[in-house]
Amino acid sequence: MSYYDVLIVGAGHAGAQAAISLRQHGFEGSVGMIGDEKDPPYERPPLSKEYFAGDKSFDRILIRPAAFWDERKIDMFLGKRVRSVDPVGKFVTVGDEEIGYDKLIWCTGGSPRMLTCSGAEAANVHAVRRRDDVDAMMAKIDSVNHVTIIGGGYIGLEAAAVLSKFGKTVVLLEALDRVLARVAGEDLSRFYEAEHRAHGVDLRTGAKMDCIAVEDGRATAVLMQDGERIATDMVIVGIGIVPETGPLIAAGAAGGNGVDVDEYCRTSLPDIYAVGDCASHANRFAGGAQMRLESVQNANDQAKTAVAHILGKEEAYDAVPWFWSNQYDLKLQTVGLSTGFDQTVLRGDPATRSFSVVYLKGGKLIALDCVNAVKDYVQGRAHVLSGAHLDPAQLADAGIPLKEVGLA
Ligand SMILES: Cc1cc2nc3c(=O)[nH]c(=O)nc-3n(C[C@H](O)[C@H](O)[C@H](O)COP(=O)(O)OP(=O)(O)OC[C@H]3O[C@@H](n4cnc5c(N)ncnc54)[C@H](O)[C@@H]3O)c2cc1C
Repeated sequence: MSYYDVLIVGAGHAGAQAAISLRQHGFEGSVGMIGDEKDPPYERPPLSKEYFAGDKSFDRILIRPAAFWDERKIDMFLGKRVRSVDPVGKFVTVGDEEIGYDKLIWCTGGSPRMLTCSGAEAANVHAVRRRDDVDAMMAKIDSVNHVTIIGGGYIGLEAAAVLSKFGKTVVLLEALDRVLARVAGEDLSRFYEAEHRAHGVDLRTGAKMDCIAVEDGRATAVLMQDGERIATDMVIVGIGIVPETGPLIAAGAAGGNGVDVDEYCRTSLPDIYAVGDCASHANRFAGGAQMRLESVQNANDQAKTAVAHILGKEEAYDAVPWFWSNQYDLKLQTVGLSTGFDQTVLRGDPATRSFSVVYLKGGKLIALDCVNAVKDYVQGRAHVLSGAHLDPAQLADAGIPLKEVGLA
């Protein structure tokens, strides 16, 4: 049986950062990384942005050049899936092979949640999670005119922006009464809805689909509950992910929506850490609520926390959440978590396409969504960190820089 001092499962953002951090801190033990995709770690956000749009080649979205991993003596097992974990014998199983570990870092992200209605299995129903997903869509994009996107979250909206730029007819169906409902306040939702409509996207909220009509194995229409038939050449499903935690949970790790981890990213199993999209943790920026965060920031920062702990440093995970989204010429940057807000303050006029939404909870500033407003994003971060109670009237005055806004 082969053996690694640190074995990383999942070669995505978190896995890559864990390996990079180990070597950056001078760790000289053996490091192995197992990933079920065929490629070395690459950036996932461009899959619905620059890579999808054809503005960046695959080489340009690699997290490190392919040779890096060899040079740092990080053994890569790509195209291989871990199917079980033995926390007592301390090994994982990959195919027929067993690989032993001293410390295991579980970084497996999640798989796209797919529709369960009839027609969901058709060949031209796609998710956007992996390079292969995008390559499969792009291989046939020239013969596609009508695209139906299910889900008005960031991925669905970004895909809509790229496809409308390609000149495709895009229908976007959101079941709730506004897009981005799970992650943002109404001001931001309404702004993005208007932007997409202005770019020709047929964006529908409160849209209840029934099933997908299929002919010869291909989706030909999305059928709505009210009987409408939306003819389509391609369906893209962006309705969230299901964390990839099966083998760990089967091995006895505590968890439900993800694997539960403590402030050092330790699971309930000895010497097994979990980080990134699959890790459920208590986040102080959400008042200590247990949650999974799906962001590059969280994947990287949790990986650093786990590595620090492996190297003997107890540095609890306490990073400020941040995120971004590019749609058309709009750059959204968010900082903090708006979950549970009870008041919003609009800074600037959305009609100028440069504004921010400030989220307050009990008077405390907890998050900002900044659209083409980099200064607000940069200056707002300190306020999120300090949890300041700022004067809402001054916050609403975009003429006052955020760093100069006084206390309430
Ligand atoms: C299209 C898209 C756009 C995004 N845009 C943004 C953005 O703008 N900003 C932002 O902050 N975040 C964005 N995200 C989210 C961000 O990419 C994720 O939060 C991040 O990739 C999480 O890193 P991770 O390492 O936890 O998971 P991943 O990067 O998903 O890596 C997990 C890896 O583990 C592999 N794996 C799973 N199970 C096993 C197994 N049993 N054995 C071996 N390997 C396994 C998976 O195939 C995958 O390669 C986006 C995500 C997507 C899909």
